[in-house]
Amino acid sequence: MPPVIITTWKFGLAAAHTGWELLAQGAHALDAIEKAANVTELDPEVTSVGYGGLPNREGVVELDAAIMDGATHAAGAVAALTGIKTPISVARLVMERTPHTMLAGDNAKRFALANGFVEEDLLTPQSLARWEAYRRAQSASGPDVAHFDDLPETHDTIGLCALDRYGDLAAGCTTSGLAWKWPGRVGDSPIIGSGLYVDNAVGAAAATGHGDEMMRACISFRAVTLMEQGLTPQQACIEALRYLMRKRPPERCGLYGAAIIALRRDGVFGAAATCSGFHAPNRLWQWAVASEQGVQLLEGVYVTPDTVLPALSS
Ligand code: ASP
Repeated sequence: MPPVIITTWKFGLAAAHTGWELLAQGAHALDAIEKAANVTELDPEVTSVGYGGLPNREGVVELDAAIMDGATHAAGAVAALTGIKTPISVARLVMERTPHTMLAGDNAKRFALANGFVEEDLLTPQSLARWEAYRRAQSASGPDVAHFDDLPETHDTIGLCALDRYGDLAAGCTTSGLAWKWPGRVGDSPIIGSGLYVDNAVGAAAATGHGDEMMRACISFRAVTLMEQGLTPQQACIEALRYLMRKRPPERCGLYGAAIIALRRDGVFGAAATCSGFHAPNRLWQWAVASEQGVQLLEGVYVTPDTVLPALSS
């Protein structure tokens, strides 16, 4: 089986590259997902994932992450984890070393520390300065300004789906969530079926976007189920977003967008995003693919409630 890895966002290119190198050397999909996600988590320039991610309204970086293994249908997740730079690796240990699927908050950190992770400051000078600017703006306009803004780089998750040469799939998600979120807020990313889902017999999917709306529609599970019903990965992504838009119409979602990537067990992939939230030049919906054909950055497809499903072609 020729391996392939797909990731959300332009900043996923480096992760896709690392994931592909591992897959090409014979790594299992699960390992490729974890190591690829670590690249983004450790990059201080990515302000919505891991180290350097923007903090909550009180200046604390709280991270959500999950990983799912198609071969065993096992999954692990952490939510509102503080002080650990690589939350997806903690999520993997939750999967492998506990009888549970998700650990949250201080007890997730306690678990990480007990398993050899080191507590570190996740704020960079840049993310601290942005939080201080947010606080100044907030005190100038009173306590009730929106806790979340849609300025560039104030949210975005790296979601990843991989297929290895043994025919196994895996998926992962890791994010600092929405900048200036309420302490304790958990988004869609660590929720199995919402931020990610894998069925080795069908395919994998992972999502990014406004998690408070997306998590009510379980769109990753829906995309995989649609592939199971015979839709192509591209059709499944479009149809999952059309479902989201039916259930969460624009007056509920505002301008905030949702996007999804999907990878079928035969290596065919697709992706789509809502038009809403991805119309500005600095908010284009871009995603990365790495395969024997090389590493590529792709854009679109953009979906509105009126989008007609493309004909079934593969
Ligand atoms: N889905 C993430 C969250 O809501 C953010 C994003 O992917 O843009 O936490």
